[in-house]
Amino acid sequence: MLDAMKSISAAVVETEALPNAFPDQDLSVLVDATLTDGFAWLRFPKALEARFLADTASSRLHTLLIAGTLVAFVMNLFLISDKAMLPDVFDRAVLLRTWVLTPICVVGMWVMSRLPNLFLRELMAISAGLMACAMHVYLSAISQSPHSAAYLTGLAMVILYNNVFVRCRFWLALPSTVSVLLFYVASFWWVPSHSPELSISVGLVLLSTSLFTLYNLYTLEYEERHNYLMALRQRLLQRELSQANNALERVARYDGLTQVANRRHFDEFLAHLWERASLVHGQELSIIMIDVDHFKAYNDHYGHPAGDACLVKVADAVQRCLRRPGDLVARYGGEEFIAVLNRAPHAQVLAAAERVKDAVAALHLPHEGSATHGQVTVSIGVATVRPAARHASVERLISAADEALYQAKNRGRNRVWPAAEHALSGEASC
Ligand code: GH3
Ligand code: MG
Ligand code: MG
Repeated sequence: MLDAMKSISAAVVETEALPNAFPDQDLSVLVDATLTDGFAWLRFPKALEARFLADTASSRLHTLLIAGTLVAFVMNLFLISDKAMLPDVFDRAVLLRTWVLTPICVVGMWVMSRLPNLFLRELMAISAGLMACAMHVYLSAISQSPHSAAYLTGLAMVILYNNVFVRCRFWLALPSTVSVLLFYVASFWWVPSHSPELSISVGLVLLSTSLFTLYNLYTLEYEERHNYLMALRQRLLQRELSQANNALERVARYDGLTQVANRRHFDEFLAHLWERASLVHGQELSIIMIDVDHFKAYNDHYGHPAGDACLVKVADAVQRCLRRPGDLVARYGGEEFIAVLNRAPHAQVLAAAERVKDAVAALHLPHEGSATHGQVTVSIGVATVRPAARHASVERLISAADEALYQAKNRGRNRVWPAAEHALSGEASC
């Protein structure tokens, strides 16, 4: 039992230091194992115990504070019984109940509500019961009343308070209940009016109250712990499920190699932006189309895995240049990337595209197979449109950017080229 109490306090200390230190998956396994093995000693494995105590701490505090408030009131209510049964020590009863124990209860509740240590909170609650028990025995010991032995029936209230009302943890309730019974046994030496008949009757009342309430407490705590484990298992399963969903969502929306958005995500995003922008007159939407120069030659010269690594670095550089909220960079296919920029003036978009081109060049990735430059470079086509305009369409915007990219390639690569006006308006070029 001492071990169980020590482990409760150790678990509490641990809880306060490391509230969520156990990884979810290990915790799930632990919860399942504990549910299978049972916990007849009302004790979970260390990490789980710490979590249980931490998770139930606030509802425990609530119960303790309500119990404390009511006990302060009920303790004074018992002055009526003091007056009837022990009139000769009534003054002492008022002193102890009203002026000593009631203030202790009030201050105790204040301290308890600020005390971070859960074990100490429980101990304080039990101490209140034990102080009431000591007061009972003391009053009956100093009274000359013929009812002083019968007055000890009131000790049953202390047991009820601890085990039913406060609902102490079983391993704390057990020693506290035994202490009350020992106080009663000790009272045979101190209280003069004990008679065998009364002693048997009061003794049996206290013993049966102890047994009933302890049994009840044990089954309730077992049930509470079981329900806690079931709820925790449910929570962990839900979390695992939502993590799996997030991972699936990521796989569905992002490119596995470069970790930028994939084409499907880009298409959906662009359609959504287009719809919103087409409602606002004058709002602009821009596309930046980026293609790695002579990438086939890069693969041929350095091998496909090196080509993959190169794409990752290029994607990273592009992404770093286009981080404004509302911008989206995606892998459009092969060694081609695309970005959409919302509400940026065309000049600003051209400047952003120049930054992308410079950032890739600044990677200084050697490209010995390149016919134009000795390092990895990109060519970029830029197109800006007002979706609310008469002939504007998503397809026309993208093909204009594509055509501009083609121009950038034709004019020597490693450059940014803006889309021609006719490509955006849909008129034939001359
Ligand atoms: P240009 O300057 O005209 O764009 O020439 P290019 O060689 O880059 O263009 P081309 O379309 O001829 O070749 C694109 C190459 O990109 C061909 C293909 O092997 C390579 N590629 C496409 N996707 C991947 C990929 O995921 N990994 C690697 N390593 N290479 C890829
Ligand atoms: Mg290319
Ligand atoms: Mg290409």
